[in-house]
Amino acid sequence: RAKASGGGRFSFFDPAMAETAERRRTLETDMQLALRRNEFKLFLQPVVDLSGKRVVGAEALIRWQHHEKGLIVPDAFIPLAEETGLIVDIGLWCLEEACLRLAEWQREGRDLYLSLNISARQIPEGLPPAVVLDAVRRHGVDASRLVLEITEGVLLADVGRSQSWLRELRESGFRIYLDDFGTGYSSLSYLKRFPVDTVKIDKSFIRDLNRNENDRALVEAIIAMARSLRLQVVAEGVEDAEQLAQLRQMGCNYIQGYHFSMPVCSADFAAAAESIARSFLPENA
Ligand code: C2E
Ligand code: MG
Ligand code: MG
Ligand code: MG
Repeated sequence: RAKASGGGRFSFFDPAMAETAERRRTLETDMQLALRRNEFKLFLQPVVDLSGKRVVGAEALIRWQHHEKGLIVPDAFIPLAEETGLIVDIGLWCLEEACLRLAEWQREGRDLYLSLNISARQIPEGLPPAVVLDAVRRHGVDASRLVLEITEGVLLADVGRSQSWLRELRESGFRIYLDDFGTGYSSLSYLKRFPVDTVKIDKSFIRDLNRNENDRALVEAIIAMARSLRLQVVAEGVEDAEQLAQLRQMGCNYIQGYHFSMPVCSADFAAAAESIARSFLPENA
């Protein structure tokens, strides 16, 4: 070992780091292959409107059905995809998939929207508004059906250019949701500078809603603020009936979480939505 041999001198070769670098390279080539092998899947998680008592749309959440390792969650590969820039191609694949789903729903007469998560690396050149518009047009899908979910961090990298990216998309009829709201630098001034349609309250505030006074106050404040700015609110990570009752009482109408459904593969989505609809029938209320 180099470090032991030269008293006081340090080696720049760190076996642990080399192994990590090797793993990252493997993962990177694996992701490129995955795109070609069609190993990525868009799972869908229903979003429920409490007052309308129905599923109004879904969030698209990527999964990797690896040929050897099985199902891989996004937290295990999206960060590296962002670092390497591969997120741009993955994002274009997601857009195409989302349009296919939306076109299918439109044919079936289902009145549903679909939201896509967008990374900072995709804005603006990785996902130009014209490309998004072209995708929905090719599939004959209404722009209002496609929602782009961004976080505040996404907007901060290059304020001017992300503002025009947002503006162009909204002018074309796409809707924008501000994801993970409350975890970043969320403030009223951001909402003014970056006009969005809806905020999604981060699940970390929902988890302890029934036990933690501060979380409850914060969620209440977000809902009140959103109402005065005429924004919609989606609560994400709603897992039980108690949280649901709290949110309903606070006036939050849009709910996403395991309480209603986990993210499911697209083949299972209709069944998930039907089971949610049944839970609203009088005999189950
Ligand atoms: P996110 O956009 O905030 O998505 C919500 C996450 O909460 C999802 O995790 C979802 O499965 C999970 N979730 C939903 N309901 C519940 C619940 O009741 N309890 C708990 N504990 N969790 C719940 P997932 O699918 O693992 O995705 C993690 C993150 O990965 C997403 O957070 C998003 O930031 C990112 N991501 C997912 N798909 C994509 C994608 O296609 N593109 C990009 N750029 N990022 C993606
Ligand atoms: Mg999201
Ligand atoms: Mg979120
Ligand atoms: Mg997130």
